[in-house]
Amino acid sequence: MLPYGKQSVDESDIKAVVKVLKSEYLTTGPMVKKFEKAFAEYIGTKYAVSVSNGTAALHCAMFALNIGLGDELIVPPITFVSTANSIIFQRGTPIFSDVTPQALLLDPELVKSKITKRTKGIISVDYAGQPCDYDRLSFIADQYGLPLVVDGCHALGAKYKNRNVGTLGDMTIFSFHPVKHITTGEGGMVTTDNKEYYEKLCLFRNHGIADDFRKRELKGTWYYEMGNLGFNYRLADIQCALGLSQLARLPEFIRRRREISIIYNSALKNIKGIEPLCINPDVHHAFHLYVIRILKNEKNLSRADFFLKMRSKGIGVNVHYYPVYLQPFYRKTFGFRPGLCPIAEKKYEEIVSLPIFPAMSDSDVRKVINAIKEIFEC
Ligand SMILES: *Cc1c(COP(=O)(O)O)cnc(C)c1O
Repeated sequence: MLPYGKQSVDESDIKAVVKVLKSEYLTTGPMVKKFEKAFAEYIGTKYAVSVSNGTAALHCAMFALNIGLGDELIVPPITFVSTANSIIFQRGTPIFSDVTPQALLLDPELVKSKITKRTKGIISVDYAGQPCDYDRLSFIADQYGLPLVVDGCHALGAKYKNRNVGTLGDMTIFSFHPVKHITTGEGGMVTTDNKEYYEKLCLFRNHGIADDFRKRELKGTWYYEMGNLGFNYRLADIQCALGLSQLARLPEFIRRRREISIIYNSALKNIKGIEPLCINPDVHHAFHLYVIRILKNEKNLSRADFFLKMRSKGIGVNVHYYPVYLQPFYRKTFGFRPGLCPIAEKKYEEIVSLPIFPAMSDSDVRKVINAIKEIFEC
């Protein structure tokens, strides 16, 4: 089965990891700072804080914002569950705000209508690798004095009006899961220009303890203070070495993802019943996902029919995402019901993600296209 996404690990990556395995420090060593510095430089922020995964990165960001009981954050429903879960980890309440029908990104006007006295921030999601409308989202966030957290897990390497994702909000979250743009096995990062957020992020990933063990060693002291409840969300040196090596390959990864998207675009444009999501001309899309919509068609094929037929042909299509608030946990905890975000619910019924990843060969791409053509008999 051809997967929808997959890592690309080469000899240079393996060498980098083996080198760390033979070195003194497997964790809290020099590779952590090196990876963070290179990442911050690539993005163009003052700070980058590495953590054990993208979900931990989101959780750290919620801690940095001082989210507590009853605080509301506005999120889109078309995202991975952990975007909204991170709010609940800190006892806050996710307020789901509907997406645009063209690109499934937070609709700024609707965001505005969800703001209350309890609103403590907005989390936008650059779904599929396409940045949201940051001119309008930032304007609204500024107008109401709300921090804007960007879940950029799909959008490493993407740009909005020539500005990198990672610099567009007060904090931006990245994931290094193997299906994402670069991998560390599991891993994540938060980028920010804000020193106060930076310090809180570092605290939270290290049990709420300010000085790490290596710094205490240098100072020759055993004493440490835990002033806050934190977690062990550190990323190990072994992983940071892989991340650093992968980061050097990122431009090529993005180039290939974009190249595959162009092949899909031109092959699919004449097939009635299929339409890719819209792309805003202001963005440089990073194509974590290539999402198509199955429209009403002459063959009366439903999205479910299409999905099963593709799977039976060995094409690992997927669906991203079932609206988060319809998940059983959300229904039973918050009483959410269908109808909350009608556009998300309607579009969810149409979407399918086609395989796209840098190691995909041209013949893999052709295999996907031919399978679609066979299904639609054209
Ligand atoms: C992958 C992903 C996450 C979570 O990242 P993990 O590293 O798997 O914890 C969060 N949000 C979005 C949109 C993602 O795609």
